[in-house]
Amino acid sequence: MARYTGPVCKLCRRENQKLFLKGDRCLSSKCPFERHPYPPGDQGNNRRRRGKASDFAIQLREKQKVRRIYGVMERQFRRYFAEASRQKGKTGTALLTLLERRLDNVVYRLGLADSRAQARQLVRHGHIAVNSRKVNIPSYLVAPGDTILVREGHRQNGFFKLREEIAADKTVPDWLQLNIESLSGVVLRLPEREHVDIPINEQLVVEYYSR
Ligand code: SF4
Repeated sequence: MARYTGPVCKLCRRENQKLFLKGDRCLSSKCPFERHPYPPGDQGNNRRRRGKASDFAIQLREKQKVRRIYGVMERQFRRYFAEASRQKGKTGTALLTLLERRLDNVVYRLGLADSRAQARQLVRHGHIAVNSRKVNIPSYLVAPGDTILVREGHRQNGFFKLREEIAADKTVPDWLQLNIESLSGVVLRLPEREHVDIPINEQLVVEYYSR
């Protein structure tokens, strides 16, 4: 599955918001957005000259922002939206729930990786199992009752030895349960709107696709 391979920090500057795509660096003074909080390329001049953004531009930017936070390309994001539209209840909430259920997001949320991009790589490289079976598909959707774990034989890897200390300090959302000794987690229930910890206006995304 395709993924974005360009400069990551530019995405935050483009969306004019920290998207936390690079793990600990995002919380440090090295974060480029702290030093250059304006769109890349023009020091923000064009944006200031353009005046008030249109409704379409606002909806587009919100959609791009959500896509970039979860590292999903446009075609797959459209599929998530189509799936969310078929579900009962609010489409925007259903869309965020689907994105939160992605295996790479769950590995990140459990604290087993510093960022969703790193979690995606762990999954792709075969380090992760769901219910004791290897799953190397980052978009795999977890369900309540699923157990996500670092595979036997991979836990001795230096990366995961360090994770035990790092993950112990991270806050895991209450729809997941982390077992730090076994580097595993259980999906207790489906995530809800309140579990998305980055400011997102999903209604704008719904409006974008409903034009
Ligand atoms: Fe965004 Fe993180 Fe880069 Fe800062 S360090 S610009 S928050 S990806």
